[in-house]
Amino acid sequence: MKKFFIVFACLIGLFLTACQQEDNQQAEDHANKQQEADQPTKDELDDSKNNKEEETNKHIAKIEEETGLHVVDNPESELVYVNKQRKLPTGYVPPNLTVPDVPHFSKEGNPKRQLQKSAADALEELFAEAQNNGIGLVAVSGYRSYERQESIYSSIVDTKGQDHADKYSAKPGTSEHQTGLTMDVASATETVSTLLEESFSQTDAGGWLAEHAHEFGFIIRYPKGKEDITGYSYEPWHIRYVGHEVAQTIYQKDITLEEYFGYDYE
Ligand SMILES: [Zn+2]
Repeated sequence: MKKFFIVFACLIGLFLTACQQEDNQQAEDHANKQQEADQPTKDELDDSKNNKEEETNKHIAKIEEETGLHVVDNPESELVYVNKQRKLPTGYVPPNLTVPDVPHFSKEGNPKRQLQKSAADALEELFAEAQNNGIGLVAVSGYRSYERQESIYSSIVDTKGQDHADKYSAKPGTSEHQTGLTMDVASATETVSTLLEESFSQTDAGGWLAEHAHEFGFIIRYPKGKEDITGYSYEPWHIRYVGHEVAQTIYQKDITLEEYFGYDYE
């Protein structure tokens, strides 16, 4: 009797298992049918392909193996977009570097006086208009080469470690200063000790710059309250040339370049 019970139990077990398999098979069949019913038409397929291309057209040439950073494919565009995830090609040097005819803080001949021609012209107009309004500005730091950024970064890694370097310095290729479209500016009256401090935003010059930079195609690249989005602390002195139209939009919508492009990075 006991033997019979065991055999019976086994049979039940087999039966249950088979049923479950059948259930699974039915579910699978159902899913397949559903998929067939949902099969997109050729037009829909083409549409989704286009959308995907748009989605992936983020001006990325490749993802760099050793750093995991996205290398941009449009370094010469005035809309080139670099940040802690996106970098310029190694060794990139912008075209048309020129010294804008404005007061400079650095000594004559210093490469940091330079900007790309379009940004330099716009900076001259901005400085002239500031002057007309009784605001004296000085250009502190513009173009910075890949090599220079590399040596700044690696010396911080050597002395203070990788974490500190990543927090306070841009990895080579990720500094906006390498684009030749960025200038750090200060009040003409400032000395070395007050240069490039957050308190600049409280000065007449800082206030004027925040309100008028966009009229000349510049944005305040790292605004207050957007540190989580840009990855950088508030820098009221760091202006980036993006052209009139985009600067206007970014100013009016009160957004960052990250929000303007809307690309997501984890
Ligand atoms: Zn800067």
